[in-house]
Amino acid sequence: MPVHNMMEDAVRDLIDKQWDNLSVSCHCDECKTDVFALSLNRLNPHYVRQQSGSAYVKADLMTEQAKATLLTAIVECAKVVSAYPHHHRKDIK
Ligand SMILES: [Zn+2]
Repeated sequence: MPVHNMMEDAVRDLIDKQWDNLSVSCHCDECKTDVFALSLNRLNPHYVRQQSGSAYVKADLMTEQAKATLLTAIVECAKVVSAYPHHHRKDIK
């Protein structure tokens, strides 16, 4: 039963495009992945069955308003990761 979380694509797209503009204390790949994971935890997943209507849902997630919501979550998560970068966090997994 192949399903796919469209939110993942939308957030990845947006982080890729905005990463250089985000005010994070560290721009390494590890911190980027942390922001990605954290953002996905905050946002509602958007599952679709694979190869069915994915273009439609993707368009849905890419409206200006949806993007603004995603970006707000990403910016918030970037702040969290900046405060506690993964590679400085030996105590927490
Ligand atoms: Zn880093």
